[in-house]
Amino acid sequence: MPDDPFVLALHDVCSAWPALLPPNRVPVSQGVADNLKIARPGGASGYWDPSETPYMVLPTDLLASRVHSAVCFVGPAQTGKTVALGEGWMTHAVLNDPGDMAIFQMTQEKAREYSRQRIDRALRNSPALRAAMGVASRDDNLHDKQFRNGMLVRIAWPTVTNMSSTSYRYVFGTDYDRWDDNIDGEGDGFSLMLKRTTTFLSRGMVAVESSPGRPVTDPNWRPATPHEAPPVKGILGIYNRSDRRRWYWQCPHCASWFEAAPGLSLFKLPSEDQLIEDARTIDIDAFARQYARVVCPAEGCLIESAERGKMNRGGRWLQDGLTIDSRNRVSGTPLSSSIAGFWLGGVAAAYVNWETLIRKQLQGLLEYSMTGSELPLQTTANTDQGIPYTSKHLAGSANDEGPADRPDDEVQRYIVPPWTRFVVASVDVQGGRNARFVYQVHAIGEYMEQQLIDRTEIRESKREGMGTEFAPIDPAKYAEDWDILTERLVLATYRTPLDDREIKVKLTVVDTGGEEGVTQKAYAWWRRLRLKGLASRVMLTKGGAMRTKVDWHVRESMVGGLQGEGDVPLHHLNPNLLKDEVHAGLSRREPGPGFYHFPRVKGPKNPNGWLPQSFIDEYYAEVRNADGVWEQIRARNESLDLSCMIRAGCLKLGADKARFWLTPPSWARPLETNSDVVTSEQRREIKAEVLARPAERAVRRSAYLG
Ligand SMILES: [Zn+2]
Repeated sequence: MPDDPFVLALHDVCSAWPALLPPNRVPVSQGVADNLKIARPGGASGYWDPSETPYMVLPTDLLASRVHSAVCFVGPAQTGKTVALGEGWMTHAVLNDPGDMAIFQMTQEKAREYSRQRIDRALRNSPALRAAMGVASRDDNLHDKQFRNGMLVRIAWPTVTNMSSTSYRYVFGTDYDRWDDNIDGEGDGFSLMLKRTTTFLSRGMVAVESSPGRPVTDPNWRPATPHEAPPVKGILGIYNRSDRRRWYWQCPHCASWFEAAPGLSLFKLPSEDQLIEDARTIDIDAFARQYARVVCPAEGCLIESAERGKMNRGGRWLQDGLTIDSRNRVSGTPLSSSIAGFWLGGVAAAYVNWETLIRKQLQGLLEYSMTGSELPLQTTANTDQGIPYTSKHLAGSANDEGPADRPDDEVQRYIVPPWTRFVVASVDVQGGRNARFVYQVHAIGEYMEQQLIDRTEIRESKREGMGTEFAPIDPAKYAEDWDILTERLVLATYRTPLDDREIKVKLTVVDTGGEEGVTQKAYAWWRRLRLKGLASRVMLTKGGAMRTKVDWHVRESMVGGLQGEGDVPLHHLNPNLLKDEVHAGLSRREPGPGFYHFPRVKGPKNPNGWLPQSFIDEYYAEVRNADGVWEQIRARNESLDLSCMIRAGCLKLGADKARFWLTPPSWARPLETNSDVVTSEQRREIKAEVLARPAERAVRRSAYLG
């Protein structure tokens, strides 16, 4: 009489006893193998077999880890990851180490499907699990499974309601890259899952799995460590915060270890350009059969797909920082993290066939070459190869070779090259807590070939500060802080290769945007420069976030007047066109029009260099989208902005016109006859004379204007 309330109550009391027993101390993978019976309709039936997907053993065992708070598994479809981490984990927990569990599927529909097709089947086919199930009908419904030991398994989907308040000891999230980045405005799903387990301290565990579904946004990213993933959101973002494990195989021929790398690199296919060209004419199936073997990176041994099972059974996960030699000795310092992270490629996935991997890639390339559609390529990258997709457009904007690859060892700081015609400086004004002027100075040659001669930050004012130091600079509050730029740039000269000859800075381009107060102080500074006769040597600019395309580079307007009549010329810059042109110069391989000469950056090969690598990285802080609009993808982009401003300065001076270079003005002639070239003596005289000129009108028209 199972429906008798008394019998039910008695049953509930008795069934709680197993929960009080100590957990069965078996590895999770063992618990799964002993108890989870899988019988798919029309498929093979039997207990979960760890030797079929050996790469799932460690991730599954670490679900019981007390030193990790989460396990993150990235891999293509058909790896067997959901069985092991989902039904498998649940089975072990119910029978060996009970605790309430929540399983999140990407949608309500998927949750229902998962409950019916996978959980219910596991319960039906696995005798031990079936016996542990509660007897009352209310114990078993679509979204809640109640076991006799009191353990509850909830199968839900990511919404704030489903993910809030209730505590679970175990939480599993699947298909994570198909979730929203921000669940109902409350944050990312992974953080919400971690919150659910916090009350269980080290006994709690979150597991999350997905194939990578977020596109690559930074085409110039290069891994800083061997196991780093591209900087994308979603599951690879979690993986990057983990201890970053990758799966390694031992070559059956030469015994070298190598990574079963995500993607297709181990097949050593012809170049993608070649494949796109060939896709329409070759026999794709024959090609896929021919290339369906792995080339051992160490010795070039050819490894047939029949060897894969054995390589997987002998395979190993290594954290970032570890290497393994052919005598199986592991060395290095493993990266450590509270997240155990695993990234498996399709080449190792048990149920993905090598021939199919290659065939789908070629079919995708064929589709792309005929219709321009990248969807099949993206799908096979994500779900078969296990890698994030880089759009063809973005890949095209990547620089295979950039300024860092062709450093100019002739470049010296503070000294212009012999071919210099004039010098332009640009200043970025940063307000706020970390206020500073950042400036960059370029020597400009014929047709705007350029060389970096200085890049500096000014953080100190000339005002008194604490103790013996000067006060930090504050361009939004103190007018006099701007006068530092007059001395350091507007009146500055740089050494030339000629004996005792220096060249003046022809133009200083200054950004006036930013914090409240900066703009007005910039106008006031410009007015002081006008009184000193220096106004023509300074160009005030305002860069805009230009969401739409316009065809002008620089537009001048008069601003600063109290009643609308402006007395200060302000130059609005079009960032999109200027960035296009700076990048065109950066991608030139040989010196010539627009080419940039940069020194070798400071690094292991050049420990005494003065220019940090970040200088180069800042140029690649933005990428051009398909609409021709530049979008920022890295936090710092000063080099790029400063170079755009220098380019805008050159345009103002007319240096983009061919006739300018045919009959250059006196200040743009070769150094020997250039009117901006002076001796050190002349420089001192000019400086003293200019600084002595009044910076205020004799009768102060209005103190408030400045
Ligand atoms: Zn080999």
